Amino acid sequence: MEFADFADRVATIEEEPADLEITSLVADLFVEAGADLPVVARLLLGRVVPAWESTTLDVGPSLCHAALARAAGPNVTPDDVADRLADAGEIGTVAESLDLDGQRGLAAFGDAGPDSLTVAEVETQLRDLATAEGSGSRDHKEDLLFDLFNRATPLGARYLARLVLSEMRIGVGEGTVRDAIASAFDVPVDAVERALQVTNDYGAIAVRARDEGEAGLNAAELAVGRPVQAMLAQTGTAADAVEAWGQVAVETKYDGARVQVHHDPAGETRVFSRNLEDVTEALPEIVEFADGLDVPVILDGEALAVDDAGDPLPFQEVLRRFRRKHDVARMREAVTVEFRAFDCLHADGTDLLDAPLLDRREHLSRVLDGVDDESGGRSPLTLAEDVDAVAEHETTALEAGHEGIMLKNPESTYTPGKRGQNWLKRKPDVETLDLVVTGAEWGEGRRANHLGTFMLSVRVEDGEDDFATIGKVATGITDERLADLTERLEPLVRDQDGTDVTIAPEVVFEVGYEEIQTSPTYESGYALRFPRFVAVREDKTPEAADSLARVERLTEK
Ligand code: ATP
Repeated sequence: MEFADFADRVATIEEEPADLEITSLVADLFVEAGADLPVVARLLLGRVVPAWESTTLDVGPSLCHAALARAAGPNVTPDDVADRLADAGEIGTVAESLDLDGQRGLAAFGDAGPDSLTVAEVETQLRDLATAEGSGSRDHKEDLLFDLFNRATPLGARYLARLVLSEMRIGVGEGTVRDAIASAFDVPVDAVERALQVTNDYGAIAVRARDEGEAGLNAAELAVGRPVQAMLAQTGTAADAVEAWGQVAVETKYDGARVQVHHDPAGETRVFSRNLEDVTEALPEIVEFADGLDVPVILDGEALAVDDAGDPLPFQEVLRRFRRKHDVARMREAVTVEFRAFDCLHADGTDLLDAPLLDRREHLSRVLDGVDDESGGRSPLTLAEDVDAVAEHETTALEAGHEGIMLKNPESTYTPGKRGQNWLKRKPDVETLDLVVTGAEWGEGRRANHLGTFMLSVRVEDGEDDFATIGKVATGITDERLADLTERLEPLVRDQDGTDVTIAPEVVFEVGYEEIQTSPTYESGYALRFPRFVAVREDKTPEAADSLARVERLTEK
């Protein structure tokens, strides 16, 4: 498929307001995509590689602006691109418009002409770009991007620019793609959903649905080395749990960071964060632990920072370890990490997602039998039948310095990516919200070179990247932290008005507050009273940030 044709179809989809009609347009596109189906399915979601692959394009605005300017001809500089962006507010419009204004446009460049760029070439070239590393890699990336823009039609450039800056936003979410696969290839939505949970690959599942139908989808299996979304919990009480299930599986809630450990004795060990990012290099102790296991496994658990006495430290400590690619040995000295396994998704050739919790725990015990508990090990599980027994566990967990307890339905299956009723969390701490940074202000005086006063937003709908402001936070951040945050957020600045900047939604802050009030000041209709910065949730993407629905629920309480 020509990329120009793909872009035309995407433009029609983007203009369509009705959800059902969007699904049907996407389904038509899937039917016609032929060999390009997997790439088309991913590109619509703004992805070049499957969601489980850790590879990122790592293209910032300056690289994108430079490549666009080059493709637009000698009269356009990267600063011109940035200026136009300030007016247009969105890179796609800018990329598309570079064809106008009497300049030699993108489409007029290159020998090959505008129609020669295919969807497959875009994928190959962007994959190449994603793997570029080391000295000279920036130039190589710019060349690759330049070439793509150079050969794209104006509409193609619009979507390419958005794609490389992770700003696709064409109104197609994961749910749309799932429904479109079902409708295009006449397979049940549930089967598609299930296969997606198991594989995390919209491209591969579209192909399976088309070529193998429902039976093929049902045959999708986990693979050691390919991460799945973590099962999530809701807040709940012991009374809720006892009433719903009779018997309650009680576990300690560790204040660490979620990790999924994949180990194959004949291959290697990989450790993934909750974002499905490969964090293996950063956590050698977990690798050493897993290397002691003698069957292929996928374990779910928590990476927990502990002090010299083995007592738990707050989760900010463990997150210091997560993003580390360099200096791991020194960081390991500074922050000790232990692994606590609380679930087993695969053991020795058997997928366990559909097995009840207690069966999965049995597999876990068997797998960990004989493993040294010092470097990690299982999180104990106890069965309780009444509220008092649960309370007793809660006291013990809190006294040991843990965050609280988890209450799980002993009969429940493992549902990747779902925040269902079968896992409940209880923690006595004041509630915090995980909010997306969507803006900031440059400071004054001593802090003139730092971004401060961060604009925070909630997610408007589950899984969609649409955000509404809910307040600003400036309290609780040290100067050193501000310098770090500035370094982190400055590349995400998209627009500036005086000292106010807008920031691409990528970074999640955990924020404490005293109260949530209704307020006309912010887009969400709510405002936080006395917000204070707690931490950067390095382990969360904006899609995992708190939703407006949660804020509404909290306010009702
Ligand atoms: P929180 O900020 O409370 O961790 P969250 O939004 O990050 O919330 P939730 O799904 O709401 O995640 O809470 C469950 C999290 O608690 C898990 O993702 C995991 O990291 C952590 N956790 C700690 N101990 C356990 C346990 N024994 N079982 C399951 N999850 C646990």
